[in-house]
Amino acid sequence: MPQNKFVPGNWKLLVKRSSTGLGLFAGEAIPKGACVIEYVGRTISNEEALTSKSKYLFEISKKKTIDGKPKNNKAGYINHACTPNCETEIHKGRVFVLTLRAIKEGEQLTYDYGKEYVDEFIKPFGCKCDSCLKKA
Ligand SMILES: [Zn+2]
Repeated sequence: MPQNKFVPGNWKLLVKRSSTGLGLFAGEAIPKGACVIEYVGRTISNEEALTSKSKYLFEISKKKTIDGKPKNNKAGYINHACTPNCETEIHKGRVFVLTLRAIKEGEQLTYDYGKEYVDEFIKPFGCKCDSCLKKA
C-alpha cells in the first residue's frame, strides 16, 4: 500500500560535524523516494525575507518564505551539494525532503540549494560539497 509521499518517516537522523560545519546524517539506511523530514519554521512574507539576515530561508511561493533556523528545524542542518542525494518538494505550502536514491547508514544528507543561494552564499567562498572537493 503506497503511503502518503509527504509524511516523513521516523528515520534516525544525526547532527554531526561535516566538511562544511554541522550536517545531517542518516543514522540508518533510507530507501530511494522516502520522505526524510519536513523543513519547518516560521512563515514570513517575501518582503520580510528580503531584509532578513537569516541564511535558512526557503521560498515556498511568490508571497511566502519559511525561515527555518536549525534550532527548531533539523532539516536546516542539511548542507548543499551539487550532486545531492535528496531533493526538496513543496506540497501545500510545506517543504519536504525526499531521497533521490537509497542512502546508506552514516551518509550525509544533502540537497541542491538552488542557483540563487549558491551564487550568493557558496560560490564566493568555493563550494565544499563532496563532488566539488573531488574536482579540486
Ligand atoms: Zn559543490
